[in-house]
Amino acid sequence: MTQLAEPAAATLPWRFFATEVRAVRRLSPHFVRVTFTGDDLHHFADNGFDQRIKLIPPLPGAGMAHLPTGPDWYEQWRALPEGLRNPIRTYTVRAVRPQLREVDIDMVLHGIDGPASRFAAEARPGAEAYLMGPNALFEGPHGGIDFHPPVHTDCLLLGGDETAAPAIASILERLPADARGEALIEVPAAGDALRLVAPAGVRVTWLAREGAAHGSKLVPAVRAAARRILGDEQTGPAVELEDVDVDHDILWEVPEEVTDVSRFYAWLAGEAAMIKTLRRHLVGGCGVDRRLVAFMGYWRLGRAEGN
Ligand SMILES: Cc1cc2nc3c(=O)[nH]c(=O)nc-3n(C[C@H](O)[C@H](O)[C@H](O)COP(=O)(O)OP(=O)(O)OC[C@H]3O[C@@H](n4cnc5c(N)ncnc54)[C@H](O)[C@@H]3O)c2cc1C
Repeated sequence: MTQLAEPAAATLPWRFFATEVRAVRRLSPHFVRVTFTGDDLHHFADNGFDQRIKLIPPLPGAGMAHLPTGPDWYEQWRALPEGLRNPIRTYTVRAVRPQLREVDIDMVLHGIDGPASRFAAEARPGAEAYLMGPNALFEGPHGGIDFHPPVHTDCLLLGGDETAAPAIASILERLPADARGEALIEVPAAGDALRLVAPAGVRVTWLAREGAAHGSKLVPAVRAAARRILGDEQTGPAVELEDVDVDHDILWEVPEEVTDVSRFYAWLAGEAAMIKTLRRHLVGGCGVDRRLVAFMGYWRLGRAEGN
């Protein structure tokens, strides 16, 4: 396994981890769990919730040979000719087992056009990859978590497509036992409904697309849930929203921690146009306080990450 030239600096919240695949487990028709191992993975912080990280698959024919890992790695990486740049993709940590030096990522299989999905489809034990993740040696906050509910909330609404399923699963696992709410997860097929651990008061519903358009199951389900939770009356006046052109901009509207008590908090993630529709409905239409909803465009139909 490649060793990093730079030792893990306790002063950095994020760092590279050189890893290789230890195991690949097919969870369902469209989900595969890839377990990574690496000499330093006992220093990978186990923060739970929707902790995001970067996965850097090998470059065909060159592996990791061109990946810069020093402090100015990003400038160096950008300066490389495109053919020598390893792809960098965003994923959610599904599980961390520091004693075993293991990290799990649940990856959606969406074909082999995307380098990460191709990696997931073809990964075998021993395959090299780098992770960029939270450094347990760093004592401050690492960042990369966007689930910031109020201290007390009567009702949580978690909604997302298959790319958000790992984050929703991890959030559910860390919620207090008395949490109440709903989780709505749209997946490509009925067989993609996974067994999740959730507090008794949170109802989990899987919505299978079965060939229908992306978001066609989740959008009406989130609207109906919001109506159920909030009642018919609006929580505020309908708000004139600034438009986000998801073809060019990233849709990422995440409130920082709200410390007071609130009736409602929603966390919504998935394909960007679908999230934009939900934002228009909840904030623009129903006047839901935007400080109570995290809207995250995780990926864009027809566009590779970073393009
Ligand atoms: C914070 C965050 C957390 C995420 N967590 C996860 C996670 O835990 N698991 C996970 O699987 N994904 C997750 N994603 C989504 C993932 O980053 C994207 O799906 C990413 O584009 C995959 O990279 P790729 O190399 O396979 O495809 P890219 O090279 O980025 O894209 C190639 C083509 O595939 C299309 N595409 C990308 N993703 C999908 C998809 N899911 N279904 C259909 N078409 C697609 C693109 O529109 C493009 O046309 C997360 C994204 C974010 C921002």
